[in-house]
Amino acid sequence: MSETARLYLLDNPVYSADAIIVGIRDNEMAFHQSPFYPGGGGQPADEGEVHFHDGTMLKIVSAYSDSEGIIWHKLISKAPQDVAGQVAHLKIDTKKRLALTRYHTVLHILNTTALHTYNAWITGVQIGTEYSRIDFKFENFSPEIVPVLEESVNNVLTKNHPIKAYYISEDEFSSRTDLLRTLTVKPPIHNNQVRVVEIEGFDAQACGGTHVHSTGEIGRLSIFRIDNKGRINKRLYIRLE
Ligand SMILES: [Zn+2]
Repeated sequence: MSETARLYLLDNPVYSADAIIVGIRDNEMAFHQSPFYPGGGGQPADEGEVHFHDGTMLKIVSAYSDSEGIIWHKLISKAPQDVAGQVAHLKIDTKKRLALTRYHTVLHILNTTALHTYNAWITGVQIGTEYSRIDFKFENFSPEIVPVLEESVNNVLTKNHPIKAYYISEDEFSSRTDLLRTLTVKPPIHNNQVRVVEIEGFDAQACGGTHVHSTGEIGRLSIFRIDNKGRINKRLYIRLE
């Protein structure tokens, strides 16, 4: 089985696609290509549906990528076992994906602002559809920083910067420390290529997630709660309006 072609990485978003069934396990299936984001970087996997040739449909409740780069789709019940080689139709829950994508993209702006202005490094993220939380190693944090952070991020959102993705070699990536935003997670590398996501005129960073096309699609950010997780570890809860 070869690596699943990842349609969520395309410049123009694909939310549904025909795909050949290439792998069947108990309640999991793999396809030659897929629009499903398999989870990673704090962004949950997509949910959705698979429609089979005979007209039946099964819910897909989650997905993950294995060490070979194959995306396995978890079905709500046992997979049909006699359909290998057939074409099925995959469809993601677009509403959920778009909400997660907006939150994922605003984190690029928040983590860059926190790093450049306060030398705060992101250490963990949990992205949701209603709110998200971000952990920072944040020396010298004070509550007065919060409205300043919000305003800086919202300025970038208002300016409507275009966002684009491209690939560089792993060698080039290792010499570009400016593309790193996390101390703990290596960005996904496929065929010795690292994906870079650039917010034009603002920031570029290595990332394998899903993004909106311009910062104006995101909305407005508010930071509505801060938890202390130790002296320098702060957990920020954010919401988009
Ligand atoms: Zn990203």
